[in-house]
Amino acid sequence: MSKEVRLRFAPSPTGPLHMGGVRTALFNYLFAKKHEGTMILRIEDTDQTRFVPGAEAYIKESLSWTGIEFDEGVGEKGNFGPYKQSQRRDIYAKYIQELLKNGKAYYAFDTPESLDKIRKEHEAKGERFMYNHQTRLRLDNSLNMSEKELNEGLEKGDDYVIRFKIEANKEVKMNDLIRGEVRVNSNTLDDKVLMKSDGLPTYHLANIIDDHLMQISHVIRGEEWLPSLPLHYLLYEAFGWDKPQFAHLPLIMKPVGKGKLSKRDGAKMGFPVFPMEWKDPKTGEIYAGYKEDGYFQESFVNLLALLGWNPGTEQEVFTMDELIQIFDLSRVNKSGAKFDPEKAKWFQHQHLQAKSTDALLDLFMPILQEKLGYIIEGKAIRNYSKKVIDLLKERATFMKDFWEQGQFFYVAPQEYAPKAVKKQWKSQTPELMAEVKEVLQAIKNWEAGNIKEKISEWITSKEIGFGKVMQPLRLSLVGDLKGPDLFVILEMLGKDESLHRIENALTKLSNQ
Ligand code: GLU
Repeated sequence: MSKEVRLRFAPSPTGPLHMGGVRTALFNYLFAKKHEGTMILRIEDTDQTRFVPGAEAYIKESLSWTGIEFDEGVGEKGNFGPYKQSQRRDIYAKYIQELLKNGKAYYAFDTPESLDKIRKEHEAKGERFMYNHQTRLRLDNSLNMSEKELNEGLEKGDDYVIRFKIEANKEVKMNDLIRGEVRVNSNTLDDKVLMKSDGLPTYHLANIIDDHLMQISHVIRGEEWLPSLPLHYLLYEAFGWDKPQFAHLPLIMKPVGKGKLSKRDGAKMGFPVFPMEWKDPKTGEIYAGYKEDGYFQESFVNLLALLGWNPGTEQEVFTMDELIQIFDLSRVNKSGAKFDPEKAKWFQHQHLQAKSTDALLDLFMPILQEKLGYIIEGKAIRNYSKKVIDLLKERATFMKDFWEQGQFFYVAPQEYAPKAVKKQWKSQTPELMAEVKEVLQAIKNWEAGNIKEKISEWITSKEIGFGKVMQPLRLSLVGDLKGPDLFVILEMLGKDESLHRIENALTKLSNQ
């Protein structure tokens, strides 16, 4: 690539960043890194009516948690600032003057009410009103005014907007790196508002001026912006600027049914749609986040990367660095990517499996301390917990699973699963458990293999089924019928604790 590669992620702080938005940021980042380019964060906050407090901070925090770093932009250094559009008013004002001077834009004084009336009149005739080459000469704008009239209007302080004068019947031929050539006739476009009555530019104007001034080489964004591309092309041409290359990413679709993935789907089906938890400042509603739900950053990155992109091989599990190496826009699909919440969990499971016991231990210790309610340190607890982790890892997906599946390694059961009790604690069980206790008591070498041998010998000599002993024994130690190999559990708990738990179960369950 000859020109310097410069990409930007340009969110509007109108709410929390949906996972689709993070995917856009990620694809920009992967592309920038792969081509040793620059990644820029620009905040597009010109629509003051849609400003949501806390959204900008949320966006930054979410991107940082995802591992998407910026070289330039809001909160970073850079020679193209300011990177927040609300601080660039003067720049837009200058460029809009240029368009006005060259006859590419014009003032329009139509009030919302008058436009509404015209719209309704058209609708009554079964037509759709467009502010364009066909109608603009009949409307209240500077194209139909003398210079004097215009100046009077401006001086009086009448409300106005500035519209783009779109050339009639022009074939706009565009190129999208994912979709190839796209053609649109300019007659399908309105004379879009470029500057609003509050003196702030609309998204379209600010966006292309900034992309130009910030020397953006590639615009990678969501498919929802594809309909704006002809307008953006025409704006670049009106200014006489070179265009960046464009790539519009496919939408992320609902797991079931049609349509794009929405925050409602997540709440309804029980999966997060946002990178981090978001509390709506207006309604107080809380939306789940991948982070708080226990996904690792690398799992989130991995699952996003495969939404609409594929590596062209069977491999599915990737780290960020690997993705940077192999990411390629030519492997981005055109059609929407169905989101599968089960697959999202699968990625998390894979990344948890890939972590070393020591790494998992570091993540598990704070959970353990929180659950136990006191701080435990030291080699013994670390070594013990490492064993717990190794025993449970294969079936764990989230860090919380280690506690949920293994809390009996730390605390004696307070309750016994009622269904399991009903099924496994029979009338002859107390007698058998009392005998098991004696067998265990006599064991000198407290090691899983040896315990197994002794218990097996005894069961065989009693001529009873293995399950009759093992299940109630498990229930006594674990409180349920789950968990890894029982002899390993016995060894881990130690002789005293094991005997104590059997004693407890005998007291609690036999008196029911
Ligand atoms: N501010 C726009 C958004 O929030 C940016 C679109 C673009 O990348 O051009 O999606």
